[in-house]
Amino acid sequence: MNETFKDIQEYFNWYKTVYGDSLRFDGDLSLPERTIASEKVNPVKIAQPEPVAEPVKKLRFDENLIHQNNLQLKKFYHEINNCEKCALGKTRQNFVFGMGNPTADLMFIGEAPGQEEDLKGLPFVGRAGQLLDKMLFAMKLKRDEVYIANILKCRPPNNRDPLPDEVSKCEPYLKKQIEMIGPKVIVALGRISAQVLLKKSDPLSALRRDTHYYEKIPFIVTYHPAALLRNPRWKSNAWDDLQKLKSFFSF
Ligand code: SF4
Repeated sequence: MNETFKDIQEYFNWYKTVYGDSLRFDGDLSLPERTIASEKVNPVKIAQPEPVAEPVKKLRFDENLIHQNNLQLKKFYHEINNCEKCALGKTRQNFVFGMGNPTADLMFIGEAPGQEEDLKGLPFVGRAGQLLDKMLFAMKLKRDEVYIANILKCRPPNNRDPLPDEVSKCEPYLKKQIEMIGPKVIVALGRISAQVLLKKSDPLSALRRDTHYYEKIPFIVTYHPAALLRNPRWKSNAWDDLQKLKSFFSF
């Protein structure tokens, strides 16, 4: 098959899988046969306003989701899950450790839990998380095959940006998780996680352009899924980031 045509077909298939939008294309747009639970829900409607979440009581999650019974990660979770080293420990509903495969080759890192994550104790479980699941699905992956975490383990009030003091107190936890998991590639979701981990203040556009290394691990920067929901015009840039990821991680 002509390489250009193949590239275009891959792009359209990815676009439909991730965004659920219909584009005119005469090639094969069928989805892979593999399904995941979250794929059965309706496609993300990007133009819809953010729904106001109902107040929900604290939920208990299946702890296995966060460490898959990996003894090292499990022990670490129990060591730190009552942390109150910064003020967020007093305002959180739930500590959000992370979730996924404790020996994942691919690790995604966001900035901090949002409202849904705070209520459920798991990362990326709101609308942005659904989009992340679709992005993973387009890579023929499920969230229990990768590891997903945040710089902060507790939600900043009103989803404000993390403060330097919070980052300095919480980042060592993430650093230890990365050492335990040993990913082959790290993907930073959004400007803040990239700036914090790379110790750079460059804008997202510059951070996305370059390939970085974190403790010798290839480190790629892309948009936070919530930003993609707000700004559909960045979809094709997200595709470019995926192509860069492909050069380090085959899927
Ligand atoms: S954000 Fe991090 S440092 Fe602050 S209380 Fe939560 S776990 Fe501890």
